[in-house]
Amino acid sequence: MVFLNTQFIKKDQACISVMDRGFLFGDGVYEVIPVYQSKIFRLNAHLKRLQKSLDSIKIINPYTFNEWSYILTKLVNFSSLSNQSLYLQITRGCDTQRQHNFAKLTPTIYIESNPLTPKSKSILEQGFNAISREDIRWGRCDIKATSLLANVLYVEQARQQGVEEVILFRGKKITEGASSNVFMLKDDTLFTHPAGGNILSGITRDLVISSAKACQLSVQEVAFSLADIRRCEGLWISSSTREIMPITLLDGATINQGKINQHWHCVYDYYQQLKYD
Ligand code: PMP
Repeated sequence: MVFLNTQFIKKDQACISVMDRGFLFGDGVYEVIPVYQSKIFRLNAHLKRLQKSLDSIKIINPYTFNEWSYILTKLVNFSSLSNQSLYLQITRGCDTQRQHNFAKLTPTIYIESNPLTPKSKSILEQGFNAISREDIRWGRCDIKATSLLANVLYVEQARQQGVEEVILFRGKKITEGASSNVFMLKDDTLFTHPAGGNILSGITRDLVISSAKACQLSVQEVAFSLADIRRCEGLWISSSTREIMPITLLDGATINQGKINQHWHCVYDYYQQLKYD
């Protein structure tokens, strides 16, 4: 079952108009929300970020917190799976003709739920490969927009190169991954690019920061460079679906001689506890 504009229906019956601005322009925003043991993870934080995205593109939030909670919970309960990933999308709605400027329209709301199977700790500990590329995206990456053309092209490059993620840089500064936030560990300090227009501030990113602090690491929201990474003790990416993933090979060069730093274990274990709070 999926949710489309006030109704729960079968996915193969869910249709939208060709005049939907999401289809025509990618004029919409989205959220991905994990569900652990049938409980929606950090709903507050996700709905707050959704509100921020909607405000940024001037779409009025169609539902209150309680209404969202009711709809999402109902969708979660249609499935027998305890771990799920909710995908929620709101577009500006259907216009009468294709025109860039927009009038006040009725937003289109679509939600689906998919199985969520995070990688086990023993798999994560093996480390993952990434490549770096120049960040060619626009300056409002803080909006979780459905128009993801650059990200789609990066993910295709990653697939072609057989790597997990593309790590992006703007000038000398690492911004984030194509679909993750990036952290560097050096001298018991965890560095990550500050929030703002150049990154999507991940919900997982916030939890990595609080988990790192709980593990006595100092955290600095300060950008770092590819040169810094060459001398670092750990490089991690984070997202709702990947959780906290160590990168041990970047552009073919090993990070920290391919070893997983002990701090990763502490931060990872702490994060796991938060999932079942
Ligand atoms: N940055 C980008 C560009 C992303 O696409 C994502 C995942 N959607 C993230 C960061 C991580 O966000 P979250 O932790 O909320 O999944």
